[in-house]
Order: sequence, then structure tokens, then C-alpha cells
Amino acid sequence: LKLDRERELIVEYGQKLVSSGLTSGTGGNLSIFNRREGLIAVSPSGMDYFKTLEKDVVILDLEGNLVEGKRKPTSEKDLHLYLYRARSDVNAVIHVHSVFATTLASLGWEIPPISYLVALSGSKVPVAPYATYGTSELATVVTEYIKDFNAVLMANHGLVTVGEDLESGFNRAETVEFISQVYWRTRCVGEPIVLPEEEMARITEKFQSYGQRT
Ligand SMILES: [Zn+2]
Repeated sequence: LKLDRERELIVEYGQKLVSSGLTSGTGGNLSIFNRREGLIAVSPSGMDYFKTLEKDVVILDLEGNLVEGKRKPTSEKDLHLYLYRARSDVNAVIHVHSVFATTLASLGWEIPPISYLVALSGSKVPVAPYATYGTSELATVVTEYIKDFNAVLMANHGLVTVGEDLESGFNRAETVEFISQVYWRTRCVGEPIVLPEEEMARITEKFQSYGQRT
């Protein structure tokens, strides 16, 4: 089978999406782009993460053609493909319906820099306007709004994060969910203090010099 290592990682991190509380049931999807081979390993559509085996992972090319696999790829495959085409620094995409990120997405609230950790996304976490799930319209608006951020809320739907590898994409998803909860809590009791732009620029630099990929 092609992309052995990537298949393993899709299975492992799919289970981590559930065990970390970022998704439940069959919600969400994830992929890795091996740029050297020009192939994408993507989670199958509608399968329980704990029943998904390496052979169930679907291999596509960048045009979305099926290269290997018996399962149907995730219904959001366009979302993954469009992001890889638009961003040469992105090799992994994670999409979840985590509770707090989806709450903010349903309010249409982008997340301002209320915590230094927002720098893992950029100067904020933007919100892409609503489009029907599984459509190329959704893939288009998300790609348009993510620009050079590493996370984007999808209105009335959920969250997408990207990374240079699956681990960084996953860490960003966990962090954005944490920040979303903190933002929601602060807004419940008052007006959160937003960090100034210069400080966010400083944090971004610090993250980079720490060898953390931002
Ligand atoms: Zn979704």
C-alpha cells in the first residue's frame, strides 16, 4: 500500500480527535499531503475512528482522483484539496465540530488575541462565511478566509486547522478549542482584554525562536 506512515498517522490521530474530545462519532476529518509523492492520505467518509484501519484510509492525488482505496473519501475532500493547492507550507488539514469553536462559529464571532496562544493561528482566528457542508463553495470560502492564518472557524459548522505536519495541525485544533472556551467564558462575565498587535508580533517571533512551528 502507498503512504504507509501517513495511513498509520491518520488512524492514530483520528482516534486522538475522539479521545481528546475534539469530535464524537464520525464527525470531522483529517488528511496528510506527502508533497514528495504528490499524494494525499485522507480519512474515509462516515467511519468510526476506532474501527478505521490503515487499509480504509483513502489515497488521492491533488486533483482529487482516487489513487488507492476501497472506501469513499471524506465528504469534505475538496476542503482538504483546496487548502493544499493554496498553501505550499501546509501538509496536514484537520476539521472538527468541537463544541466551543463551533459555538463561536455559530455566533459568527472571530477570536481576537485574548490569549497569547492565539498566535498559533496568527493575529486572530477568522470566521469564514457559511456554505453547505461537502461543497466546493465551502472549500472556496474557507481557503479564501484562512489566508496565512493556521486556523479558521466555519460559520454554523466548525473549525479547520492546518499544519506543516499532522501533529502541529492537531495541536492547533486542541489549542483553538481551548481558546474558544476561554473566550466564551470571558464574554459570559465581562469584556476580555485583547493583546496589542506589537505583543502578538513578539509572541509569534518567540514561538519561532523556540523551534515551535507556528
Ligand atoms: Zn464538518
